[in-house]
Amino acid sequence: MSEQKVITRFAPSPTGKFHVGGIRSALYNYLYARKHNGKFILRCEDTDPARSKKEYEDYFINVFKWLGLEYDEFFRQSERTEIYKKYLHKLLEEDKIYISKEEIKEEGQRSEVIRFRNPNKIVTFHDEVLGDLSFNTTELGDFIIARNIESPLYHFTVVVDDFEMNITHIIRGQEHVSNTPRQILIQEAIGAPRPIYAHGSVILNEERAKLSKRDPLVRPSLEYKDEGYLPEGLLNFMAFLGWNPGGEKEIYTLKKLINAFSLERMQKPGAIFNPEKLEWFNKEHIKLLPKEKQLEYIFEFIPENIKSLPNYSKEKIENMLNILIERITHFGQIKENFETGEYNFIFSQPEYDKTKLLYKTSTVEQKNENINNTILALQEILESNFTKENVKEVLMKIADLLPSRGELLHPVRFALSGMDKSPDPFIIAEILGKNETISRLQKAL
Ligand code: GLU
Repeated sequence: MSEQKVITRFAPSPTGKFHVGGIRSALYNYLYARKHNGKFILRCEDTDPARSKKEYEDYFINVFKWLGLEYDEFFRQSERTEIYKKYLHKLLEEDKIYISKEEIKEEGQRSEVIRFRNPNKIVTFHDEVLGDLSFNTTELGDFIIARNIESPLYHFTVVVDDFEMNITHIIRGQEHVSNTPRQILIQEAIGAPRPIYAHGSVILNEERAKLSKRDPLVRPSLEYKDEGYLPEGLLNFMAFLGWNPGGEKEIYTLKKLINAFSLERMQKPGAIFNPEKLEWFNKEHIKLLPKEKQLEYIFEFIPENIKSLPNYSKEKIENMLNILIERITHFGQIKENFETGEYNFIFSQPEYDKTKLLYKTSTVEQKNENINNTILALQEILESNFTKENVKEVLMKIADLLPSRGELLHPVRFALSGMDKSPDPFIIAEILGKNETISRLQKAL
């Protein structure tokens, strides 16, 4: 075989907000083209004027932008009517299709449609995932390929475009397998070569039912953007829905996915869309982000009312980075965590019931003595060295001399946070800084 440049395409119909399940086919086509230094085409299949909307086209374009899936060319089928017409005329001349006047049932009118003269034969094709498949096309009858010469239908436009655009590989979901025999008949009629097919596994929900448009998992893709998922997390998760590179490693950047991707490792059995797995992938990619990037996302999701608190500062948030990241799997949870008031103590002196400062059976005197010692020790640390490591070292020295470390660590932590559950006192001290930490401890005396 001669070295033919790989050309793939993704061909969404703009009839709704591009949902997350659709990302997988887009991604596979992208990966395959990039891996082979080929071309990846985005084609808007908007031949149905009643259902197609420009806003839905804008929507999927924004999804591609967000995910960083760059395409080399973009086409809109509604602008290609002349091309389809040319093929329709030719096939009419060759008598491979015919105009048929038909009764429209409901309206009792007669109307024209264009039908394909079905050769009624067995079509056999090879699929990279499913193997060899055979269909008897007889049962399809003389199927309709256009409403009229001006308005061709899906099967016809797909085949003409794949031919005109020299598509070499068609990677799409298994719901399209049953379309393939019709499309092959049309290819043969117009003299187009047969592309290589790879039909990816069906995506299932956790009950192992096929994801339907009504499944709550099938969400518009940009909701994931709005909720602070990372493109790299979502893409990694999607790539593994029905494909895997083999081996233990699961965390792949887009670049690495390009290197690793192959049609041979696409899987036949249904792939389960497991939302917890998505959270896991996303979290792993959050951890891989450089600190500045993590902060950028965090600032995006901190609620405005927190940002306007008098003690709010970017620096405090920077100091909080680790505790903020620890508790999330996608950045939208930053907003939720701030909204529950979990971090209010960072920005204002906590109000609390002072009996809660006492550890188990500890007395007020013991508590005061421990806090006093803590204050004295912390005063020795230079403000510029007031890190959680240094605070820890100092506090642990005192705590280790007590019958239980809790005698010291509990009142200190509570004095700083006023909360039953909070990060450890060393981290809070670092976030608050030396002056604020000591002032809160004094208040606890
Ligand atoms: N436009 C078709 C769809 O949205 C896809 C066509 C294809 O991939 O062959 O389902």
